[in-house]
Amino acid sequence: MTENKKIIIALDGPSGSGKSTAARAVAKKLGILYVDTGALYRTVGLYVKRCGVDPTDGNAVCGLLDKVKIELKFNYEGQRVILNGEDVSDLIRNDEMSRYSSAVSAIGGVREFLLDMQRSMADKNSIIMDGRDIGTVIFPNADVKIFMYASSEVRAKRRYDEYTAKGIECDYEKVLADIIQRDRNDSGRKLAPAVPAADAVMLDNSLLDFDGTVNAIVEIVRKKGIEI
Ligand code: C5P
Repeated sequence: MTENKKIIIALDGPSGSGKSTAARAVAKKLGILYVDTGALYRTVGLYVKRCGVDPTDGNAVCGLLDKVKIELKFNYEGQRVILNGEDVSDLIRNDEMSRYSSAVSAIGGVREFLLDMQRSMADKNSIIMDGRDIGTVIFPNADVKIFMYASSEVRAKRRYDEYTAKGIECDYEKVLADIIQRDRNDSGRKLAPAVPAADAVMLDNSLLDFDGTVNAIVEIVRKKGIEI
């Protein structure tokens, strides 16, 4: 990679497609920064919940935003997210926060609030950023755009296995219903819907395991002639 040229890889796709774990591994492999933008929406969701505000009430949610200060910190293990000085990285990883984040992410003021922060991440670093609108809104000129997806059943099964492995009791049908509902919210919303950019490479990883997915992403990056 040349000294100054910063590379941007936009990785979008629906919930549970394995974007974050794959992006983290790709970042390590390529020696670039991984940024998980879902964590930002989750953190706004957490603040809204703590304030006892309805996450679908746009005016009420936007009225809270000037009290929200979010910072991202990076260490060798990955990204930590800090809300008004508190590390909330672990508190935002649950189903309730998935629902809250999905609701607040449909509010224009929230997306606006998080926009500059996301763009500024590429000022100093080459990055792989995962989300829903990275290739369409945040970085329409990204060097590589990938839209990664898998069938809702495959994604639900992965999430179910992940919960079960952690000893969290869950019901497959409920996990599947949650995934379908979140897809509907995220891809059906008016603002920055989770849809592929016209120039995105489509990657169906339904039949790929973790290594297969990581290799497929690296292969797409290499095929673009990008040297990192
Ligand atoms: O990726 P993750 O599941 O953590 O994202 C949580 C929610 O945040 C998503 O369901 C989506 O509604 C929202 N989101 C978004 N735009 C992004 C990243 C996440 O709208 N770039």
